[in-house]
Amino acid sequence: MSDKSRSQSKDTRAQYDLLFEPLKIGPVTTPNRFYQVPHCTGMGHRYPRSEARLRGIKAEGGWGVVSTQETEIHPTSDLTPSNQARLWGAEDIPALRLVTDAIHEHDSLAAIQLAHNGLHSANRYSRAAPLAPSDAIVDGDDPVQARKMDKSDIAAFRAWHVSAAKRAKEAGFDIIYAYAGHDMTLLHHFLLARHNHRTDEYGGSLENRLRLFREVIQDTKEAVGDTCAVAVRLAVDELLGADGMQHDAEARDIVEALAEEPDLWDVNLSDWSNDSQTSRFSDEGFQEKYTGFVKSVTSKPVVGVGRYTSPDTMARLIRKGQLDLIGAARPSIADPFLPNKIRTGDIETIRECIGCNICVMGDNTSSPMRCTQNPTAAEEWRRGWHPEVIPRLADPEPVLIVGGGPAGLEAARALSQRGADVMLAEAGNSWGGRVTLEAALPGLAAWGRVRDTRLWQLQQVPNAELYLESALTAQDLLDYQMPHIALATGATWRRDGLGRAHRKPMLFLDQNRVLTPDDLMTNGASAVASDGPVVIFDDDRFYMASVLAEMLADAGKEVIFVTPSPIVSPWSERTLEQDRIQRRLIEKNVRIMPLLTLTGMSDDAVTLACIYSGETREIACATLVLVTSRTPNDAVWNDLIAMKEQWRDAGIKTVTRIGDCLAPSLIAMAVYAGHSFARNIEFEVPPEPMREDVGQIP
Ligand code: ADP
Ligand code: SF4
Repeated sequence: MSDKSRSQSKDTRAQYDLLFEPLKIGPVTTPNRFYQVPHCTGMGHRYPRSEARLRGIKAEGGWGVVSTQETEIHPTSDLTPSNQARLWGAEDIPALRLVTDAIHEHDSLAAIQLAHNGLHSANRYSRAAPLAPSDAIVDGDDPVQARKMDKSDIAAFRAWHVSAAKRAKEAGFDIIYAYAGHDMTLLHHFLLARHNHRTDEYGGSLENRLRLFREVIQDTKEAVGDTCAVAVRLAVDELLGADGMQHDAEARDIVEALAEEPDLWDVNLSDWSNDSQTSRFSDEGFQEKYTGFVKSVTSKPVVGVGRYTSPDTMARLIRKGQLDLIGAARPSIADPFLPNKIRTGDIETIRECIGCNICVMGDNTSSPMRCTQNPTAAEEWRRGWHPEVIPRLADPEPVLIVGGGPAGLEAARALSQRGADVMLAEAGNSWGGRVTLEAALPGLAAWGRVRDTRLWQLQQVPNAELYLESALTAQDLLDYQMPHIALATGATWRRDGLGRAHRKPMLFLDQNRVLTPDDLMTNGASAVASDGPVVIFDDDRFYMASVLAEMLADAGKEVIFVTPSPIVSPWSERTLEQDRIQRRLIEKNVRIMPLLTLTGMSDDAVTLACIYSGETREIACATLVLVTSRTPNDAVWNDLIAMKEQWRDAGIKTVTRIGDCLAPSLIAMAVYAGHSFARNIEFEVPPEPMREDVGQIP
């Protein structure tokens, strides 16, 4: 950071002082207003050391409260193979003790979100019959039904919750949740009329449906409330209109009825796809209109979320009395040091969450999460990576990085932080590579933050030289005489249709009428030369084809979306976007044709074949957009390899391909590759890639 901007930040810092005021939550006190609400990591009980280190880093970064993810309280709530936290018995305490120790080391409060998942868990490991207010088939695809709980089951559930709360206290937690949210927990299922068809005192009227929630809050207070705060997490709207809970109807009645019972209200939207909306579909603060009423109904502290990354917004929310605590899951993943950066006035160095939900994918694939903005997320323990600290090189040597996309920018940024002199050369006239191209597509503007945060840092340091309009050849690289070279030259979308359904190039294509995402991202909708229908063939199956369909529909084109998959953008289910994407395309009159491959192309049509029967049909097509797969831009690499005998004379010690030019993947993977390269540059043979986080905690 330059002296000038640092002093500007410090001048304006006083306005954020209120974010650093302590607040009493029942019997405990948080040191500030930054509250990492419960969020999944894809690690949980399966990778306990990794989980603990990740949470500890957040405490170190200044989050006053750091929560676990949902924590299964009993074998009848078994989310296998999902890697949640687990507190079925005393044997689970040591792993959670690691978490609380890591958080307490930095004087933050540790919160645990106890969960019984009711009809949301199929209990694949425990084989226990799932439980629900009424007989119901479980969520998801498991051909399993949950059974209606009788009075003894309800009593047992209350006892399990109490036992889990006591174990949580023993594990060292300061705040213990009763969780009624996301349409994922028994307590929520009892509240919701569509799940609760009971006719006894636990069903029917709202007072009856919230009876169990009230009892569990009271039970928990009685069991642990002397030293632990009891928080509730309640979804105040499901965005289902009158078919679900609404913030200005039953949800308000619930908060009014229980207003002073818990020590803290953590309020949000349900289901998870509504709570964790991506930036493609919502802006910062999107939950405010739903959660805003809560503070007016209770005197207890209120925490709410909304993908907040702007300190001005955070201060405004506290100042106007909308929230007492700024809740964050994703912004705390993208930058675990966000609070400390606000405190020290280093606002410009905040790595703002881009709202892409790649982190969510971790939980949805039962694997340690990854983050587009923060390559160290989930690597804190197994690779020993700290988000802010990176060892300086003992003997730094200059590095030339070719390509200014996410991989090249992150490699340059991290290497400059390590003390190496870095030269970054980019062929184009702007920075960011694919990030810049993709950020111009409908709804993806926030993705530009991946570029901005890195470029800004590179512009502040004396040891990074940045060159645009510098397309380098292998000969240039020999001439520069740099000991280390990283090629981050990216990838190019294929024109030949090779992808998943078609593992060989399509030989029938009329290339005059074929466009790729690169054509459309570079030239916009004007790349489509003719007026007729545009067929987008999506064999990539993530977001790209859908944003191009949007762009072309917005430009007035007739768009037909063809895919071998049964739904549009199936991978986006992992980022919680699939419903919204398909709905948006339908609203924009994009014709969706699923379960089809491409088998022919004539003057004004393409031939499609059913993936099951092979039956073919023709549809009119003036322009065909192929979104299938990408080819690494490895020409410079291949040329350099051919000149390998000249490397020594040119002073070249290492040449490394990073990011999409090695293997095209997510932007998150390109950032990670750039970071990993910078971390390991001094090792001829990279060290042990990672520690394996398995085995009992002693
Ligand atoms: P990644 O995701 O791996 O970072 P991108 O495709 O986003 O890849 O970025 C690659 C960048 O490399 C692009 O901006 C491209 O213009 C640049 N580039 C490609 N070849 C060269 C080259 N020979 N010299 C300089 N820059 C290059
Ligand atoms: Fe934000 Fe994307 Fe990182 Fe998740 S993966 S925290 S949404 S930047």
